[in-house]
Amino acid sequence: MKIAMIGTGYVGLVSGVCFSDFGHEVVCVDRDPGKIEMLERGEVPIFEPGLDQLMARNVEAGRLRFTQDLAAAIEGAQAVFIAVGTPTRRGDGHADLTYVMAAAEEIARAARDYVVIVTKSTVPVGTNRQVAQVVAAANPELDFDVASNPEFLREGAAIDDFMKPDRVVVGVQTERAGEVMAEIYRPLYLREFPIVTTDLESAEMIKYAANAFLATKITFINEIAALCEKVGSDVKQVARGMGLDGRIGKTFLHAGPGYGGSCFPKDTRALARIGQEHACPMSITETVIKVNEETKRRMTDKLLELCGGSFNGKTIAVLGVTFKPNTDDMREAPALTLLPAMVGGGGQVRVTDPQGRREGEALLPGVTWWEDAYAAATGADLLVVLTEWNEFRALDLGRLAKLMRTRRMADLRNIYTAEAAREAGFSAYDSIGRVGFS
Ligand code: NAD
Repeated sequence: MKIAMIGTGYVGLVSGVCFSDFGHEVVCVDRDPGKIEMLERGEVPIFEPGLDQLMARNVEAGRLRFTQDLAAAIEGAQAVFIAVGTPTRRGDGHADLTYVMAAAEEIARAARDYVVIVTKSTVPVGTNRQVAQVVAAANPELDFDVASNPEFLREGAAIDDFMKPDRVVVGVQTERAGEVMAEIYRPLYLREFPIVTTDLESAEMIKYAANAFLATKITFINEIAALCEKVGSDVKQVARGMGLDGRIGKTFLHAGPGYGGSCFPKDTRALARIGQEHACPMSITETVIKVNEETKRRMTDKLLELCGGSFNGKTIAVLGVTFKPNTDDMREAPALTLLPAMVGGGGQVRVTDPQGRREGEALLPGVTWWEDAYAAATGADLLVVLTEWNEFRALDLGRLAKLMRTRRMADLRNIYTAEAAREAGFSAYDSIGRVGFS
């Protein structure tokens, strides 16, 4: 099976590499010349664990290529995947479909033989039918089908998620397209991973409903955490007690500084917008968006309190700025709200992150970048744990405390405890949904 993948971002590159590892012949296309040049040199433009080796193996086997030339890439391809960005449209919260439609038109103009045009990008219900219209208008002679194949991989665990998915969702209109999709995912089907085949509209809705539900779960525990702080409960114990109930489940119950990233913020906004457009308000999702913003604001208040009411003249060491560990992605990371507030308030903000600097430098003006947690903490007045990278999970707290000017810690990922901080010599410790000390 020959496949073309349009877009080599987090989703397109991982999907393209994994499809080639299934044994398909894959050509990945991007209109960003910098990305394609890197890929052709064997370099991976994003940080995703394991991706470099898997990519190298399949390039070497001759199954995986990269190009800027979309027309050449889709020649002879039975399936062309659209994996371009669908960011929030400025002003109204709707998903911006400009890149998807532009890609669809380019595919239409270049394609000659029957092809399945598969949307992997997260798109509102009705988009695949719109793609079909755009393609038919651009190339009325073309024999084609559209298919919806939303992606559920998580950055940082993307290869495993792609190779061992909880399920694959495929929305099709015709048997012919269904057969092409079945052939593409045959290796997963053989290993008995569930393939959920639906109509186009249901596949599109599954992705938004799933992401909005997960964002709701996170936001729910964050709100419970706020109450725990008031009444003296420990949200970690509460989450464990809740999560062991099979009807609830343990995942997505980690209280933190509010969700961020490339998907939850934009997808919740898009779902809310779809609801508004159809006079069917998504009230729960709208509330989740609002509570998440409040959660982020609450974090600034926490840090301000630990700084004695003002950031001015304080040196603050921040551990981690990416929206979660094991990725270099900074899109809508809580750091983008918290750090400017501290810099704007006159704080000297020092940052250390294993992978965040390349993206973060331009996004976080006014901060300085440090080699590791100990260097950043030397002479600092506050230590903030913002992203729970493994290397921040087992720090020598005693050593850190000794290096600091004022020994205060804001543990916004609950990876340490008040007792450990006290024993290490910290004079103040605050976390999420647990009682701290000062
Ligand atoms: P991204 O911004 O990392 O990558 C998109 C890529 O598409 C860019 O490299 C861009 O240059 C390229 N591109 C845009 N228009 C093009 C065109 N006409 N021709 C060729 N290349 C083009 O985006 P991403 O994070 O990979 O997300 C892609 C889609 O997948 C989005 O809809 C997103 O919601 C969805 N998704 C993302 C994740 C995730 O974890 N990032 C998970 C599931 C689903």
